Amino acid sequence: MAKHWYPVFSSEKCKQCKTCLSACPFEILKFNDSADSIPSLSDSDLCPVNCFKCAQACPNNAVGVIRPAKPCDCCSF
Ligand code: SF4
Ligand code: SF4
Repeated sequence: MAKHWYPVFSSEKCKQCKTCLSACPFEILKFNDSADSIPSLSDSDLCPVNCFKCAQACPNNAVGVIRPAKPCDCCSF
């Protein structure tokens, strides 16, 4: 089944502050060791629909949301 949605991180806007990491209740955001790293998801399937906590916590508006082109058949997500 296709993933409903998940956050994406802008390499242009991200300032590597890591605020989003501590905001995630599931601790699924990570950085790699490079200086220009941006957050990535260790497992996007663990993001609950409409969580948005990482996006809300980001002071640089660097977090967007990918939504499916076609909603699932059984709900509006
Ligand atoms: S959407 Fe929620 S669960 Fe998913 S990475 Fe962001 S804070 Fe974590
Ligand atoms: S909170 Fe925003 S600016 Fe800070 S590391 Fe996360 S995505 Fe980047």
